[in-house]
Amino acid sequence: MTIELRSDTFTKPSPAMLETMFSAAVGDDVFEEDYTVKALQEKTAQLFGYEAGLFCTSGTMTNQIAINVHVNQGDEVICDALSHVYLYEGGGIAANSSASVNLLHGNRGRITAEQISEVIQADNVHYPVSRLVSLENTVNKGGGCYYQLSEIQKIKALCQDNNMALHLDGARIFNALVETQENPLEYGKMFDSISICLSKGLGIPVGSVLLGTTDFIKKARKVRKRWGGGWRQAGYLAAAGIYALENNIERLKEDHKRAREIGKIMEGISAVEEIYPVDTNIVIFRLNNKILSSDYVQKLDEKGIKAATFGKHLVRFVTHLDFTDEHLEEFRKRILR
Ligand SMILES: *Cc1c(COP(=O)(O)O)cnc(C)c1O
Repeated sequence: MTIELRSDTFTKPSPAMLETMFSAAVGDDVFEEDYTVKALQEKTAQLFGYEAGLFCTSGTMTNQIAINVHVNQGDEVICDALSHVYLYEGGGIAANSSASVNLLHGNRGRITAEQISEVIQADNVHYPVSRLVSLENTVNKGGGCYYQLSEIQKIKALCQDNNMALHLDGARIFNALVETQENPLEYGKMFDSISICLSKGLGIPVGSVLLGTTDFIKKARKVRKRWGGGWRQAGYLAAAGIYALENNIERLKEDHKRAREIGKIMEGISAVEEIYPVDTNIVIFRLNNKILSSDYVQKLDEKGIKAATFGKHLVRFVTHLDFTDEHLEEFRKRILR
């Protein structure tokens, strides 16, 4: 068997999830007549206390649409240099929204209100308008670390005082929530928009949801259409999303437990110099300087273990729904071999 640890996007729908997809009631979503899509959007919005939601193909799409609705041409987005919105979305902030970025260097991708307050641009003809702050939770490049709500509350207050919107890239927000036991409604109060991936830890084949006010989502729907993201009988996918929200959130703790086990196993590997603290389902480790991550990942591949390079000497493992205790035991055997 192959041990797939490159990403939590590799999961395949379970028979029970497929069953609900087969029997979904669908319609044309561009005409807003796909009732399963509507049900998913409403369910997700209610969970976080928002007025509305928009189901889209990917987290890149939900993030980029949100940014596009929040900013005007020439404005600036304040975010950490490790942010997915900056690093992994094809330069979309510039290409899609003609906006610039003001990059901060936080703690494993987490930024503070104090750091943000130091870079907000003054109201002056020379400067771009600091219009949006974008946070990521959990932080992918930071090894799955998460924010404390108290810090987010400070950031929210700062944004309100400075007329800036606050967006959350919550691709893995549920990984954070099962650890902190915080109420998702608290998150809804903080952010003007949240992007949530259902295709990561929650295990649906395709799809992300963007949340916000009715007015924000109306604008977002228009941008989605303009970018070719209006889809038709998407309810087959939305049905999987509803199933995932009802069945696959609490079990994320198991992924975290297995990730911590992997972290412990890697402590005994001589090529490994440093392992980031394992907070959720992501394990990042740094190899000693003589070993390139591309070579190391190739060696793992020969053992039937799939990992992702995450920098010149950095490697990432991500645990997920299809990585069971049986896979973990097999991983242990193969890695020590
Ligand atoms: C995966 C991911 C996304 C969205 O990725 P898509 O592949 O476009 O769905 C956004 N942000 C973070 C932090 C991610 O890990």
